[in-house]
Amino acid sequence: MAERITDIGPPHFEKFLPPVIKENYGKWKYHEIPEPGVLRHVAENGAEIYSVRVASPRIMSTLQARDLCDIADKYCSGYLRFTSRHNFEFLVSDKSKLEPLKAELAKRGIPKGGTGHSITNIVHTQGWIHCHTPAIDASGVVKSVMDDLFGYFGSHKLPAQLRISLACCLNMCGAVHCSDIAILGIHRTPPKVNHERLRHLCEIPTTIAACPTGAIRPHPDKSIKSVVVNEERCMYCGNCYTMCPALPVFDSVKGGVALLVGGKVSNAKTPPMFSRLAVPYLPNNPPRWPEVVQAVRKIVTKYAEGANKWERVGEWVTRIGWEKFFEVCEIPFTFQHIDDYRWAYDTYRTSMHFKF
Ligand code: SF4
Ligand code: SF4
Repeated sequence: MAERITDIGPPHFEKFLPPVIKENYGKWKYHEIPEPGVLRHVAENGAEIYSVRVASPRIMSTLQARDLCDIADKYCSGYLRFTSRHNFEFLVSDKSKLEPLKAELAKRGIPKGGTGHSITNIVHTQGWIHCHTPAIDASGVVKSVMDDLFGYFGSHKLPAQLRISLACCLNMCGAVHCSDIAILGIHRTPPKVNHERLRHLCEIPTTIAACPTGAIRPHPDKSIKSVVVNEERCMYCGNCYTMCPALPVFDSVKGGVALLVGGKVSNAKTPPMFSRLAVPYLPNNPPRWPEVVQAVRKIVTKYAEGANKWERVGEWVTRIGWEKFFEVCEIPFTFQHIDDYRWAYDTYRTSMHFKF
């Protein structure tokens, strides 16, 4: 423990602010988006700064990060930042450097965009790169979907901003529960109990308590220190595996993707909304996940055609009604769409108002 340094926290953010931001901190008058991917903020004293937003794959090498730093050194006096959706922003205080920066980005193939009524970066998780509980991959699905929707990243042609998120299991690390479109990894098989390992690796009471449906109980044979799973009650959430490594649930063939729609976090016009199930299952189909790509595109296209200006996906669906949403997006309505968990009653229709 000698000379151990601890509890020092992050460096103070002020250290990394461009001088124009430091001088005008809390004194900004307005901002505008002169073109997709470029923001202009103007301070009360007339000072201005341009932020050029570019895409990132989130998971990047140190070489890639150094490349971005080199660009920032050349055009932004070394200043850049990353956004809450993992895009990068080059902070340009000298307007004469804006066009040369844009030209360099174009030359290097670094896409600019993600502002205004666009589809910006997909908030996503670890997938098969690093986590032990995923039902699907994250980076691979995100790359496939963003390739397909790339035209929406560098343009403002949607009715409102459209946030897509992905989580590789229903721990939902990130934003899938509150996004316009959410891509979620799901299992469809119960865990396989390894009795021999369980008694060495797991704490049985916490494993039992981890199950939201009460499907796990102690093994009826008292001489076996393990658990049994009532498969009729299991809905394959995988929570028990998070607690106990002797209950693996992953099945690469039967697991797959569910799509949710209609969530948002802002309070603009309407309160925040949770996203809700749209497509219960699509297959895990690496490396390009064509079924997922196609289904996401269909929802985006129908939303772009049908929504009013400023209307988020959830607001559009609320206005036309869920029955209409399923009809226009040509998504079959199945028993899986009907909530059956604890407070499900509130999600049923208790009115005569519906569209044929
Ligand atoms: S969503 Fe699940 S599988 Fe993905 S990183 Fe989080 S815990 Fe791991
Ligand atoms: S997968 Fe979920 S529902 Fe099934 S037994 Fe484990 S915790 Fe319970």
